[in-house]
Amino acid sequence: AKQAYVRTKPHLNIGTMGHVDHGKTTLTAAITKVLSEHGGASYVPFERIDRTPEEASRGITINISHVEYETATRHYAHVDMPGHADYVRNMITGAAQLDGAILVVSARDGVMPQTREHVLLARRVGVAHVVVALNKADGADPELLELVELETAELLAEHGYPGAPIVRVSGLRALAGDPEWTAAVERLLRAVDEHVPVPERYTGAPFLLPVESVLTVPGRGTVVTGAIERGTVAVGDTVQAVGFDDGFSAVVTGVETFGRTMERGEAGDNAALLLRGVRREQVRRGQVLAAPGTQTAHHRFTARVYLLTAEEGGRATPVASGYQPQFYLRTTSVSGRMRLPGELAMPGDTVEVTVELGRAIAVEPGLGFAVREGGRTVGAGTVTAAPA
Ligand code: GDP
Ligand code: MG
Repeated sequence: AKQAYVRTKPHLNIGTMGHVDHGKTTLTAAITKVLSEHGGASYVPFERIDRTPEEASRGITINISHVEYETATRHYAHVDMPGHADYVRNMITGAAQLDGAILVVSARDGVMPQTREHVLLARRVGVAHVVVALNKADGADPELLELVELETAELLAEHGYPGAPIVRVSGLRALAGDPEWTAAVERLLRAVDEHVPVPERYTGAPFLLPVESVLTVPGRGTVVTGAIERGTVAVGDTVQAVGFDDGFSAVVTGVETFGRTMERGEAGDNAALLLRGVRREQVRRGQVLAAPGTQTAHHRFTARVYLLTAEEGGRATPVASGYQPQFYLRTTSVSGRMRLPGELAMPGDTVEVTVELGRAIAVEPGLGFAVREGGRTVGAGTVTAAPA
């Protein structure tokens, strides 16, 4: 029988972000190694975190690794992603809903373009707290360390993260068991414990889980994974899949987190739900599982959209009414059309628009989304109304 997950500490979702090769994956492995010494984690080696992409439902690739660990006061789910594009995609679609982020900056290279972009991205998607791991501090020139520290502090203050703690670490040396640097990783975790508060969880709201991936477990059935956005779920509950063309209701026959059974999944948990009588092809990333009757799929909604300026990475030219970008909502992207109040809108403008999606998905007022074109984010929107 599987072990049960015993909820003794608050659960938080965090993750590493930062420029490629600054040491995110090495640090993630080091954290599990250091905490495994105190029984707070199972050690997850670098190769298992940086593994090849996992094939999820219907051929959509999800480049995101989850590891879990516990400090003295918290249980954490931690995500690490291999490439810059995975950060953009997972963060703006909300697949990685981070309560806090560990920004990894190499002390040898300093703030690089992706460092900057991830800080911008974190701010835009509402990551409330950032802690800096000034990595590769082993053997780094002390003056350079100070310079990079100042540069990083300035970047964070500029983007609404003033006073973010900065901890000098070496993921590589900690992984090798060097006591100076295992102590540094412990300091980093203490900074996360102290600086990132437990967020408010909407456990009283109707259950909602955006589908992240779908798996078939031989002999057991179809398992759907994702982060519970609101409410709670337990064995015996009926959930409804909403979005795309096919919807269904099914009874939950198992709730797990990180391979352990849970009595009840709660908002903020990474959960795997076993569904009775559901075929794998019936569920896909982009749908939501919800308490029956609480969500509906829409082809059309109205929204307020801010168009990023060229300096923010957006377009240099105006968009015309009828513009057809990709809309990134929760865990998926859908192509659609945007109708403007006038003929044109300029980068830097905030406009009230009508969106027509190519496929119906669950939306509701207040839901945030990103507007992307040719692999870059050109707008950030909020749904204002979704008429039946
Ligand atoms: P990621 O792309 O941010 O995930 O970076 P990786 O974790 O893959 O690390 C990139 C490279 O930097 C690898 O060759 C690591 O061995 C090296 N590296 C990572 N952390 C450290 C560190 O603390 N010190 C030193 N000297 N090298 C490191
Ligand atoms: Mg990596």
